[in-house]
Amino acid sequence: MKIGITGCAGRMGQMLVREVLITDGCTLAGGTEGPGHNALGQDVAQTAGLEACGLAITDDGDALFAAADVVIDFTIASVTESHTRFSKKHSTNLIIGTTGHDGGQLASIEAASAFVPIVKAMNFSVGINVLFALTKQLAGILDENFDIEIVEMHHRYKIDAPSGTAIGLAQAAADGRGVDLDRFVDRGRDGIIGERQRGHIGLAAVRGGDVVGEHDVVFAGESERIKLSHIATSREIFSKGAVLAALWSKDMTPGLYDMLDVLGFSSRNN
Ligand code: NAD
Repeated sequence: MKIGITGCAGRMGQMLVREVLITDGCTLAGGTEGPGHNALGQDVAQTAGLEACGLAITDDGDALFAAADVVIDFTIASVTESHTRFSKKHSTNLIIGTTGHDGGQLASIEAASAFVPIVKAMNFSVGINVLFALTKQLAGILDENFDIEIVEMHHRYKIDAPSGTAIGLAQAAADGRGVDLDRFVDRGRDGIIGERQRGHIGLAAVRGGDVVGEHDVVFAGESERIKLSHIATSREIFSKGAVLAALWSKDMTPGLYDMLDVLGFSSRNN
């Protein structure tokens, strides 16, 4: 399968290039960067710390999608829209790891998925997807006497907050409780905000150092607390998951899928 990587000089982009080059059944179709990026013209593999592969980094997303069977996109939310357009134009499967999309951007991804298979996951790690399933299950078992709080910590370079994964966990908790997340979520509390409201789901973000990603889901009751924790120690969990999703998408029909589908425990059936 020919796999293209957008944002190939980025932190995740470089890991994805390495993962594609070491995974059986994959070849690297090329890599792009944003206009004006200083890696343009450099060798895609060399930029990722490997021996040269003869493919130069370009800013031509259209050409990358034309050359690839599937493109993996870990860039920035504002450029995903053009990538979904190229995906539809060339019938190229798309794996989206980028987070922080607004409603309009999410709608354009959904619209494109009527024409091509798209896998979009806020987190491509196997462990986190198990955490999604457990959070939903526990939120359904424990009643509102247990306050649900979600706390995430990431490295100092992350530009969006809270993390897409934390939002996904809040959604899983809301689904388990059978409530509308938008009405029940309490984000980033600050100041004299009054007592905690029963049934609400708290969401807080912490930033610092080189933390790859930590997510805690706390169910806090009277005199007892249950805590589900996931700690990522290497970003490889995301690149391995994304390449797995790319291979999985090969024979899929058009649609919007997530990592739970790839792993075979689809949220659609929960
Ligand atoms: P990064 O800033 O290191 O990399 C993003 C890259 O995209 C940069 O190199 C940037 O120049 C490039 N880019 C910008 N505009 C572009 C364009 N028009 N065409 C091609 N490339 C372009 O960021 P990162 O840490 O690698 O994270 C990237 C995204 O992936 C973020 O949204 C992050 O939250 C997300 N992420 C998701 C997961 C997951 O499992 N879903 C895991 C880790 C990171």
